[in-house]
Amino acid sequence: MKTEPFWWEAAKPEPTGVALPDSVSDVLIIGGGYTGLSAALTLAKRGQTVTVLDAEMLGYGASGRNGGMIGNLLKPGLSGLIDSYGVERGCAIYKEALASVEFIKYRIAEEWIDCDLTLTGRFYPAVLEKHYRAMNRDFEIRQKYLDIPEEMVGPDSYAEDVDSSGYKGGLRLYHTGGLHPAKYVTGLTKAAMRAGARIIAPLRAEEIIKTPSGFAVRTAQGEVAGRALLIATNGYGGALFPFLQQRVFPVGSTMIATEELSENLVASLFPTKRMITDTRKMLSYYRPSPDGRRVLLGARPTIFPASPEAQARSLKKTLSSIFPSLQQTAISHVWSGNVAYDFAAMPTIGEHEGVYYAMGYCGSGVAMSGYFGHKAALKILGDPEGETAFDDLPLEDRFYYNGRPWFLPVAMTGYRVRD
Ligand SMILES: Cc1cc2nc3c(=O)[nH]c(=O)nc-3n(C[C@H](O)[C@H](O)[C@H](O)COP(=O)(O)OP(=O)(O)OC[C@H]3O[C@@H](n4cnc5c(N)ncnc54)[C@H](O)[C@@H]3O)c2cc1C
Repeated sequence: MKTEPFWWEAAKPEPTGVALPDSVSDVLIIGGGYTGLSAALTLAKRGQTVTVLDAEMLGYGASGRNGGMIGNLLKPGLSGLIDSYGVERGCAIYKEALASVEFIKYRIAEEWIDCDLTLTGRFYPAVLEKHYRAMNRDFEIRQKYLDIPEEMVGPDSYAEDVDSSGYKGGLRLYHTGGLHPAKYVTGLTKAAMRAGARIIAPLRAEEIIKTPSGFAVRTAQGEVAGRALLIATNGYGGALFPFLQQRVFPVGSTMIATEELSENLVASLFPTKRMITDTRKMLSYYRPSPDGRRVLLGARPTIFPASPEAQARSLKKTLSSIFPSLQQTAISHVWSGNVAYDFAAMPTIGEHEGVYYAMGYCGSGVAMSGYFGHKAALKILGDPEGETAFDDLPLEDRFYYNGRPWFLPVAMTGYRVRD
């Protein structure tokens, strides 16, 4: 069993072989995942000189390890957003999540990115009847205020989505789908480089220094200077920028891939090839591989850190409970990565002491990260199109959090009990 992402079989992260620039860049970007690369692409296309630094090979972070499921999920749901911010702002926020899905489709098409995009839709099966009822309430609110191509399906009507018994029905979305996440990183990297961005990986930003004309970033190869700075480190930022470290915390997620199966078997499990995410607090997400030969599943397998083998065993149990026909199937890959949360469980974009940031997609960033990267780039340019309905949402800290998310096992134990 390999302990790196299945996706890297087709698109392994590699060094870019680019050196530090000897002149000041218009914009420095720290983090070369979807957020940073998307920002770099937008900026370079607008004629800016851009330098991106990534501590690892590009695609080493969540962008090269995720499930590749495109979605517009915001954790609070439309009803939660309306409760917190009122109808107008709540709907405006939700509409941007929808816009992020259209944006990723547009960008992939515009840049000719070959990343196995399939718009087969998404299905959220309800594990409990009360989940179905809650989902239906939120669905009715969305129907009232927004125009979304989605529908509720009852317990006897989801056979086209997934061949697994016991769900209480669910929500089917038609405008989303999936892609190959590591090929998408590669495609974005090439597009940004084509547009003129200088992308340097692996090279860690070790320190951010404020200068009279902007910022300098210290690295093992020397300092690099920029007039503006964007931090796009999501769940991997550590102590680089304490303001973000105190407000955005990493949460692990693990995935497995099965050995190669017959196409017929995989097609029988996913008749319409939809991406699936269930409704548990400790949720499972699963899908067919783009070539239709494997099943991939992700979740948080253990509350405390565990070996890849133990995590794979736990996820295999989950997989077999969903698809009993896969009980004897071997697992070929297991890998983990960090997603990033803030305390409001909402993506965050903004500026602090002149430093721009975009991150915290709460496990649903395949579409949103590229969209926020683009918006952050426009903000840096002072373009009013960079405004978002997320602007000025509070990014809170907590007195009990100092950069080590010790409370996660406690929260997860609570979630397990609820589930
Ligand atoms: C296992 C897993 C499954 C997921 N599944 C899905 C899914 O199916 N659908 C979905 O919508 N979302 C999913 N996500 C979330 C999604 O992958 C992320 O939201 C998205 O990739 C975030 O992109 P990013 O560019 O902001 O961050 P990342 O891709 O994590 O990039 C951050 C980068 O910053 C770099 N970095 C950090 N510190 C420094 C430094 N000091 N100097 C230089 N570079 C630095 C890191 O090396 C890293 O490459 C999943 C995430 C994981 C981990």
